[in-house]
Amino acid sequence: MKISEIFSQSNGPVVSFEIFPPKRKKNQSKEDFDSLLKTIDNLARLKPDFISVTYGAGGTNSDGSLEISEYVKNKGITSLPHFTSIGYPVEEINSYLGTIYNKGFENILALRGDLPKSPSKADLVWRDFLHATDLIKVISRDFPNFCIGGAAYPEGHQESSYAGQDIEIMKIKEKMGVKFFLTQLFFNNDNFFKFMENVRNNGVESPVSAGVMPLISPKYVDKIIELSGVKLPKELENALENYRDDEVEFRKRSLDYCVRQVNDLFERGVDGVHLYTMNRHEAVEEILDQVDSNVNREVELSKQT
Ligand code: FAD
Repeated sequence: MKISEIFSQSNGPVVSFEIFPPKRKKNQSKEDFDSLLKTIDNLARLKPDFISVTYGAGGTNSDGSLEISEYVKNKGITSLPHFTSIGYPVEEINSYLGTIYNKGFENILALRGDLPKSPSKADLVWRDFLHATDLIKVISRDFPNFCIGGAAYPEGHQESSYAGQDIEIMKIKEKMGVKFFLTQLFFNNDNFFKFMENVRNNGVESPVSAGVMPLISPKYVDKIIELSGVKLPKELENALENYRDDEVEFRKRSLDYCVRQVNDLFERGVDGVHLYTMNRHEAVEEILDQVDSNVNREVELSKQT
């Protein structure tokens, strides 16, 4: 099913999950691969509206991304493969898009990917698709039947030079064919709703799903914050300071924060919540068990093709 239709037909907030392919390829570790398939089986029981599968920048484990996306689709769940264009010549991009289109995917998340710190390919290749808009243009022109999603940044993208640049870019993406947005993770709902007010005031009409990440282990928090560039709220900063060596207590506190965050998003009428699962189903299950919109999650599987 097209994700734009899921949003337009949903009676409440759309709930989706993000997973990533294992770092080691299937032929390097079948164990990692099989373990992810089990996680997907568990996530599928929670009846998400769709599951998105990340794509490594510059093609890291791209085969894995496609295979995992297919596994999701074959379980009867709407599958959203991500695709990052940076570092590819246009012919390779067209060939990959053709492959996923021919495999029956209806949706694609069109991303640029992070700029390489030290490009290994010829400079010109890295410059072919400098922005996601370059990719969106190609998809809209050559694969008009895809339902295209784009990334959005409530706290601004690290490369943006002025406040509001990302909202202008959302408007351009929408004009070029993007039908929905998924946001970077964030922890501060007030900032998100201020951002949404600006998004709507600037004429962007597509649904926007709020990116929420349950922080499962204190070990990864610094890296997550560094990569995403988002701010950690005082409450989670304190939890990190006090329980850096106490994984159980930290997890309890951060999941409690996450439940309150998701409940608040639902109460304030968010279009959707996109949970960054970190390939762990238990935390997602615990959170969804405690949020107040169970009724909105009961999307019949028959609606999801
Ligand atoms: P862009 O939209 O190109 O934005 C990058 C910067 O350029 C921004 O500052 C923007 O304001 C500016 N910009 C955009 N278009 C233009 C334009 N036409 N002219 C001038 N400036 C412009 N990374 C992965 O490697 N794999 C993934 O699977 C993945 N999934 C993600 C999913 C989500 C929901 C999000 C939010 C991010 C994801 N990322 C992923 C990270 C993403 O690749 C990086 O944030 C990347 O640096 C930017 O990608 P983008 O598509 O937002 O790029």
